[in-house]
Amino acid sequence: MKKNTCAEIFSIGTELLLGEITDTNSTYLSQRLRDLGIFVYRKNTVGDNVNRLTQALKEALTRADIIILSGGLGPTDDDVTREAICEVFGETPKVDPELFKELEEKFTLRNRTMPISNTKQAWLIPSAKALKNPIGTAPGWFAQKGGKTIIALPGPPSEMTKMWSEQAEKLLPITNTSLYHITIHTSGIGESDLCEKIQAFTRLECPGIGTYARKTGVDIRIAAAAQSTDEAKQIAKPVVDEISKILAPWIYGYDNETLPSAIMKLCSENNLTFAAVESVTGGFLTEQISACPGISCCFKGGITACSTDTHALIGIDPTILDKNGQFSKETAKEMAKSAQKIFKTDFAVATTGIDETAIVAVAGLNGTVTSAVNWLGDREMIRNRVSRTALQLLFETIRETTQSRLQSQSGNSRDSN
Ligand code: AMP
Ligand code: MG
Repeated sequence: MKKNTCAEIFSIGTELLLGEITDTNSTYLSQRLRDLGIFVYRKNTVGDNVNRLTQALKEALTRADIIILSGGLGPTDDDVTREAICEVFGETPKVDPELFKELEEKFTLRNRTMPISNTKQAWLIPSAKALKNPIGTAPGWFAQKGGKTIIALPGPPSEMTKMWSEQAEKLLPITNTSLYHITIHTSGIGESDLCEKIQAFTRLECPGIGTYARKTGVDIRIAAAAQSTDEAKQIAKPVVDEISKILAPWIYGYDNETLPSAIMKLCSENNLTFAAVESVTGGFLTEQISACPGISCCFKGGITACSTDTHALIGIDPTILDKNGQFSKETAKEMAKSAQKIFKTDFAVATTGIDETAIVAVAGLNGTVTSAVNWLGDREMIRNRVSRTALQLLFETIRETTQSRLQSQSGNSRDSN
């Protein structure tokens, strides 16, 4: 069997090692390589030091078929990517007259004289061809020698992505491997609990399964490799189906779906509407909902009501507030019912509470449900957690309602038969 094409990514720059900038280039490259069926087994971050970079490249060449570097193509002494590639390929760079002319023209266009230091941006070695950089000064390199490929790209993300997608990617050999991947999104279950439930699958070779705890809940990524995407999909399918069945109570969507988009789908399929009223989340929940394109088909609006007098304004009975306090289950329920009335919707979601004790409530077609959120953390984390719980409770309530509607409809049609 032919071995998989394997790549390593290098992000170059001392500023990356010091945590001064975030390495977005390697994330982009990983995604593109994944889609091309090229396996990335390792990523490397190396500072602006020619010896350390040369050493790291030599090691990577013993493991990988393709090496992709971003950064270190600037004109200054600390930009040493070209020097390191020359060293590992054992070649001497020469100024390429055509590249030099193009570079000079870029400076002339800006009414500037090209500094001598920029000359090295016109270097080439016999094994490399230049990749054009229409939006910056540094050309890239596509170098091949002894069955290995080294691609050097500029650091600025806009220059890097343009050069990669328009030139470098097209020069890569086509692999006979296709990858298929799907992400299942869950909410309301912890990562270790979830892993226990699907432990029969977590150690499979193909499809490979990974779980990731995110702000939005725990994701499960299922990926398979085969000669075609269809074949890879067929390999993954039984596992995707089985995991979907096991985790059904917590799954809200797949791939690009979010909790708000899953709610929108349920609502538009069933002709339902909803609204929100917030105290502890202060508008954050409404912001999350309204960020979903097209949501206005079912989301009628949100109110932020943070104090007892504003609670009265939205029609909450003062005796409920007096008896139970502002941050209680009963008040949360009343808030949800008020929003349902004000916006004339089928469902309404409410959040209330202080810091680590918050309550969310959903008023629906069959009564009102609540859920408590006890979560230590700063404001940002609490607003996130409470909003997510609110969206999840809303999703579950709408789903239950639509499912019981469906069941009673199929019961009715059986009766009538
Ligand atoms: P360089 O080509 O090394 O001179 O990098 C120029 C600039 O590109 C840096 O100062 C960063 O702002 C940006 N940059 C370099 N590498 C990365 C990376 N891996 N991810 C995001 N930005 C980067
Ligand atoms: Mg640099």
